[in-house]
Amino acid sequence: MAETRHTKVLIIGSGPAGYTAGVYASRAMLEPILVQGIEPGGQLTTTTEVENWPGDTEVQGPDLMIRMQDHAKAMGCEIIGDIITKLDTDARPFVAHGDSGTTYTADTVILATGARAKWLGLETEEKFKGFGVSACATCDGFFYRGQEIVVIGGGNTAVEEALFLTNFASKVTLVHRRDELRAEKILIDRLMKNPKIEPLWFHEMVEVTGTDMPLGVEGINVKHTKTGKITHIPCKGVFVAIGHAPSNELVKDVLETHMGGYVVTKPDSTATSIPGIFAAGDITDWQYRQAITSAGMGCQAALEVERFLAESEETDAVAAAE
Ligand code: FAD
Ligand code: NAP
Repeated sequence: MAETRHTKVLIIGSGPAGYTAGVYASRAMLEPILVQGIEPGGQLTTTTEVENWPGDTEVQGPDLMIRMQDHAKAMGCEIIGDIITKLDTDARPFVAHGDSGTTYTADTVILATGARAKWLGLETEEKFKGFGVSACATCDGFFYRGQEIVVIGGGNTAVEEALFLTNFASKVTLVHRRDELRAEKILIDRLMKNPKIEPLWFHEMVEVTGTDMPLGVEGINVKHTKTGKITHIPCKGVFVAIGHAPSNELVKDVLETHMGGYVVTKPDSTATSIPGIFAAGDITDWQYRQAITSAGMGCQAALEVERFLAESEETDAVAAAE
């Protein structure tokens, strides 16, 4: 049944930024409501080993996110499985509409909606999505046991995905548009030592080829970035790992953004261009995009919300006394 819930702080998103904000806002007795969105736990639920979360030499991404969820809950954060479809930033309190029919009114909002995979935008990429073309090796790698696979990209995600896919594939070709990877050195080192992985430098995917009945990938066509020469690479799976774009749909028309849609925050702050709305994690971070930096910003946002609410109460009290 449709209902309206009011909270002092509405946290939108359940990645490291959202859950950390949940822990801090709960401990500040703000009784936060956290709405999880379509991907409870966020991006780390799409990976396996995480080796750079302090305190854990190695932890599985999905396990880490369950622990963060349990932690936020234990501190008193109310966690709701819903998706915010619209955020009214003109209203006071702010009004967020949930896909479930619930309306959330909030004195402050912490936006922690993160980022999601980018695609190349090829017609054939779209055609074979879910039928051989994927952006999530952990989700779909299992389907390609003993097969040849291609990974597109040269960042941490592409290299990690290529390494992970060697658990299943007979061969992984890493197609990159330059001859230099932007991934961390430790990952590049592992990639170069892996006999199942073959890098293909200076190439871009221009087409996915395959069958219609049944729909399935048979290979890709790649173009040499300098000579323009087209080469065909036979493969059964294509993993596109060319980066992520901020999930800014709720606010892109009302908040200031930059660097391709990342929400602008004030210097050394998570405050956005609208007082009372704070942004933390990958939604605002075009530079680092790490679990730990997102968690740090989630903490900062909750502390700033606490201060904002205290100052608003003081202003209200002064106005009432006059
Ligand atoms: P995200 O994790 O992106 O979570 C966003 C949340 O917002 C999701 O829960 C989503 O459901 C929710 N949401 C979105 N829209 C709405 C809406 N309308 N309503 C409600 N909720 C909404 N970083 C590391 O430090 N170490 C690693 O080893 C590492 N490995 C990675 C591996 C992969 C494959 C990927 C893709 C990323 C990896 N990263 C890693 C990066 C790390 O995952 C991100 O930096 C981090 O998850 C960002 O956290 P976040 O809280 O900002 O958002
Ligand atoms: P990224 O670092 O932005 O790298 C994207 C890669 O895709 C780049 O190599 C880029 O090439 C290539 N690319 C982009 N657009 C392309 C196009 N149109 N055609 C062909 N190639 C294209 O993205 P990411 O690897 O997804 O990483 C995102 C963030 O998450 C990073 O901050 C990363 O550190 C973090 N992350 C961390 C870990 C970890 O810590 N272990 C793991 C995964 C992700 P160019 O290099 O030529 O620009």
